[in-house]
Amino acid sequence: MRKFFLAWLVLLGLFVSQAQTEDGVAFVMSEVKAGEGVEKVLSLSAFLSSLEGTAFDTPVFFLGDSPALHVKNAPERSISEETTEKQDSSSTDYTVAIVAGAHANEIAGSLAAYWIIEHCRVSGGKLIVVPRANASAATWSTSKVAAPILHYGARLSNPAHEKGPDPGFFIPFDASESLPSLSGQEVRNLNRQYPGDPTGNYTSQIAYAITRLLVQNHVRTALDLHEASPGSSLAWSIITRPEYLDVAALAVLQIEEETEKSFHLESSRDEFAGYSHWEWGKLGIRAFLVETLNPAQPSDDPTIDQIFNDKAPLVERVFIHLCTVKALVASAYEELGDLVALNIEGLPSSKEEVQKWLLGIEEN
Ligand SMILES: [Zn+2]
Repeated sequence: MRKFFLAWLVLLGLFVSQAQTEDGVAFVMSEVKAGEGVEKVLSLSAFLSSLEGTAFDTPVFFLGDSPALHVKNAPERSISEETTEKQDSSSTDYTVAIVAGAHANEIAGSLAAYWIIEHCRVSGGKLIVVPRANASAATWSTSKVAAPILHYGARLSNPAHEKGPDPGFFIPFDASESLPSLSGQEVRNLNRQYPGDPTGNYTSQIAYAITRLLVQNHVRTALDLHEASPGSSLAWSIITRPEYLDVAALAVLQIEEETEKSFHLESSRDEFAGYSHWEWGKLGIRAFLVETLNPAQPSDDPTIDQIFNDKAPLVERVFIHLCTVKALVASAYEELGDLVALNIEGLPSSKEEVQKWLLGIEEN
């Protein structure tokens, strides 16, 4: 993985200069090598063709042996029509989606997703992994420091890739009237744009395509991996709709036992309009926002050593994200009843395993 970091740094420069033309799929595929457990790789544009060839298109990795993968070139229908169809489905597969990189500055989530893609094998059901949900956000940085320790992307989509300038303010879809509007730049925040709009700006289109990916593949449980600043109440937490708090509570016990890290639960509410877990949850998907602590936030200070940070070293954050995947997949399954269990092999058993991988000294 040492190579990975170097490639990342160099590519970022390349992408900023070629911002208008580069394809997000090629960018992400240069960072990760699919392991033997990956059955298929599709582009997100298979779920919304207008994303094809843009910096917003991004690969979707399918692990597991389930036959029905997706519906390509399906007629454009509303998410609610597809949800009705989903509820009629008699599928007994347990399909889980792991989404990361909605905010490209929150690097531990994408790295955890890359671990799964490179190491894991799945049986009994299907695991869908989107490691860089907003590939455009990974191509630019708001930091102007000349010699950063680690160069990484930003929270919002690259403005050079969007269809036009930001509006004066932004109101997430389905936000209640009592909620104040957000600043205009939040129109490029993927995690305020769900369930998305196929005719909206590109950030909204990725949200739509990801929601469609989940619905068409009958996803039962979905995780969105993020990081929060040290001063945020969200650091080291799982946030979910009230109806899924029991599932999260069970997972927290397991996470704390395995990692010795104190985790907390937060119940989401109306002000989370446009967030992935809030909107996917309305569609009947057990959806969870997972937050580790990112020591460089909120300013994305590139002079902070994220890799060997004293308070929250990168290895710990990646390991805990992976423990959270294991715990939530299992605890959501307990509640689902008559499904076949999803077995994920290849998750790390220790932080040391993850550290070797991050530093490129993994034994094969
Ligand atoms: Zn985030």
